[in-house]
Amino acid sequence: MTNTVTEINTSTGVADDSTPEATITFADFGLDPKIQKAVSEQGYITPTPIQAKSIPHVLAGSDLMGAAQTGTGKTAAFVLPIIQKILRHASSSASPARHPIRALVLTPTRELAVQVAENAANYSKHTDLRAAVVYGGVDMKEQVMILRGGIEILIATPGRLLDHIGSKVANLSQVEILVLDEADRMLDMGFLPDLQRIIDLIPAQRQTLLFSATFSPEIKRLAQSYLRTPVTVEVARQNAAADTVKQVVHMVSSADKQRAIVKILEARTRQGLSRQCIIFTNSRLGCARLSRALERDGIKAGAIHGDKSQGERTLTLDAFKSGAIEALVATDVAARGLDIPDMPCVINHELPFSAEDFIHRIGRTGRAGSTGDAIALVDASEKRLLDDIEKLMKRKLDVRPLPEGNPTASRSTSTQVSPGKMSDPFFYQPYEPSTPAPAVDGAAKPEVKKVGIVPAKPTLGALLGGFKKK
Ligand code: AMP
Repeated sequence: MTNTVTEINTSTGVADDSTPEATITFADFGLDPKIQKAVSEQGYITPTPIQAKSIPHVLAGSDLMGAAQTGTGKTAAFVLPIIQKILRHASSSASPARHPIRALVLTPTRELAVQVAENAANYSKHTDLRAAVVYGGVDMKEQVMILRGGIEILIATPGRLLDHIGSKVANLSQVEILVLDEADRMLDMGFLPDLQRIIDLIPAQRQTLLFSATFSPEIKRLAQSYLRTPVTVEVARQNAAADTVKQVVHMVSSADKQRAIVKILEARTRQGLSRQCIIFTNSRLGCARLSRALERDGIKAGAIHGDKSQGERTLTLDAFKSGAIEALVATDVAARGLDIPDMPCVINHELPFSAEDFIHRIGRTGRAGSTGDAIALVDASEKRLLDDIEKLMKRKLDVRPLPEGNPTASRSTSTQVSPGKMSDPFFYQPYEPSTPAPAVDGAAKPEVKKVGIVPAKPTLGALLGGFKKK
């Protein structure tokens, strides 16, 4: 991993880079052999930077603010020490009273909740701790049964958890550790009132961990309200993408974007690169249209957006994972929390309206140390959005001129490119590392959006039953 980690104790303001990540191994954390065994079975050899820096603090009982995107290994960074800390409560007793909720992880979406719960199940599988997930949009009965049976680690989306609390099925009075995962996303989705209601029900004597891709002023306010002298751990630059992601912008007119994608995939084939990619669009309609258009162009494409039924989404995602689909066209909400390891390429068919969404989108690639390409197709009307993204990331993105037609093309001049001028190898040669870009001062103000909750994969419904994988 090449990500830099800066760790600042906010109570002292002292930056601490004294522990070189390379020297840390999982054995150094002193985790119980049952946890260590599960980690080894996952094939993890060395901790990722966020794990190396966070786990000791969580074990020591500190509150923590972790600036880390999905893909950096942040889930294990909090789940492993949580299991260690509550292991003393593990009981083989069947009595629900012996299995109160000790750790609560709140996530913005059902997909992320399921993903975290799968991790918790894997890492705790050699212990007597129980983990389960609850989220909305599915029948409550099965969840009620599981909650009544008792579980120590609960992963939940806020709305559904409040439903269970309202019907007295979930009780948070013995929660010792609270995690707010993708906290920025929860705020964007309008969950703040729900979070406040839930946190008020958790004992004040607790440990609180907050993870967020970015530290916006809203996130800092949330942390001030609910965290006590937190240690701050950052992976890569704040508000920056993982440096395993090679980013490039192509100025392409809106009418040419679809053809550009075809060219990109053709070029990847010629270069022996995987054609698998996620293509982000801003609207459901645009998502469906693009997917159909790509299929007409001979690309195996599938769409995931809010109008698709849960069953359709699952089929599409499974087809994507199996390789039957090579281009997954998705809207932000539908893609949130999907765990697709080693995604080689993310294409932004258009830029998102919120710069923070851009960071989330490209966080689908370059995960856990692998490298990935993040390609943005930008037309003239999106210039302001590009400026916002560059401000948030504090860097200029590498704008690649097309090799033919107008080699001196720049952002201000090459916004309209006729398909006829795109010749192979076109604009998708293996990307060299971006030239270091000048810093841009100031941070973009994130736009606040309210969006619905994404249904989870129904095939994972079975996992509601406690996630024990003995
Ligand atoms: P996350 O950021 O938690 O979504 O993790 C991203 C991916 O990294 C997941 O597929 C994890 O299984 C994987 N991962 C987490 N920790 C490690 C590690 N120490 N070594 C290798 N892979 C890891």
